[in-house]
Amino acid sequence: MKLTVLGYYGGYPAKGIGTSSFLLTATNGYQLLIDCGSGALMALERILDPLKLNAVILSHYHADHIADIGVLQHYWQLAPGNKAQPMLPIYGSPLDEPHFNQLDWPNATEKHPYQVEKKLKIGPFTISFFQTNHPVATSAMRFKEDDSDKEFVYTADTTVCADLPEFIQGAEVLLADTNFYADKTGQRWHLTAPEAGELAKMAKVPNLWLTHLPQTGLLTTLVTQAQQAAGQKVNVQRVHQGQIIKI
Ligand SMILES: [Zn+2]
Ligand SMILES: [Zn+2]
Repeated sequence: MKLTVLGYYGGYPAKGIGTSSFLLTATNGYQLLIDCGSGALMALERILDPLKLNAVILSHYHADHIADIGVLQHYWQLAPGNKAQPMLPIYGSPLDEPHFNQLDWPNATEKHPYQVEKKLKIGPFTISFFQTNHPVATSAMRFKEDDSDKEFVYTADTTVCADLPEFIQGAEVLLADTNFYADKTGQRWHLTAPEAGELAKMAKVPNLWLTHLPQTGLLTTLVTQAQQAAGQKVNVQRVHQGQIIKI
């Protein structure tokens, strides 16, 4: 499978690049959109007709992860072309009912709930969930491609969680929220670069990709700080726009 980066900033877009969104393409061609932040639809249009999406899954309902859901729904309702199926399924947490209900849109999309404690089958993927530490119900997600047995974990938004390394163990790739540099102080709801590196080290993953990046500072510093904490056995990189990560 491969993961294409459609946006990677935390909070708000910057410098022509949007917020969290990733396209997961299975070996058999199944197209799953993971989060749909600001700028996601335009980034997606460059590589795939959005009508060819097979499903969407959302980690939580903060704007930097769902900002383009509305325009994606308009696209599926109004744009000419052949749809992959009549209605696009959007998977989300039912715990926030008002947001969950908005995933239904006439002649376009339909809402589907996931439960954190249950595994979910979407096309060729089996997905498991982990409730992270964030101000709203948020799920880290573990994606297993059934055909290849390859796995990757997306932390979504989180601070340090005691059980998160165990949830990640055995995956080939970790895509981790790294919104802050090492010197961040005070209240925060995201990982710092050293915390992301430490998480990869504890989970024993070979590849750490930093995402949900800050708009300020030198991102190479973020990578250096995460690499220092992760140690030699982890290859640390930051994501770039349009980048394809093979898993
Ligand atoms: Zn976020
Ligand atoms: Zn958030």
